[in-house]
Amino acid sequence: METDETPGAPRVLHQLECATCHARSACHEQQVSALDWAFNHLKRHPDHRGYREVVTKFWRMPPGQGRTPTALKIHKQRSPPSRGCWSRFL
Ligand SMILES: [Zn+2]
Repeated sequence: METDETPGAPRVLHQLECATCHARSACHEQQVSALDWAFNHLKRHPDHRGYREVVTKFWRMPPGQGRTPTALKIHKQRSPPSRGCWSRFL
């Protein structure tokens, strides 16, 4: 597996989540944009002072690496479909 370096594909997406009310920013390629959201959220909710960052990295399987490890098969069977905001980049 290797990082996805497809032209135009984002390398990393940053999203911040308020630890108090669980509101989330949009996904941004620049971390500073997610931080802007947090500062604006804090202005509206001065007591919401804790945040979590969700970082999404993109990976690709090169040809010839199509075998699925057993652990991943089990994970896929148990995991609900992903609805991350990064899906607009796929
Ligand atoms: Zn909040």
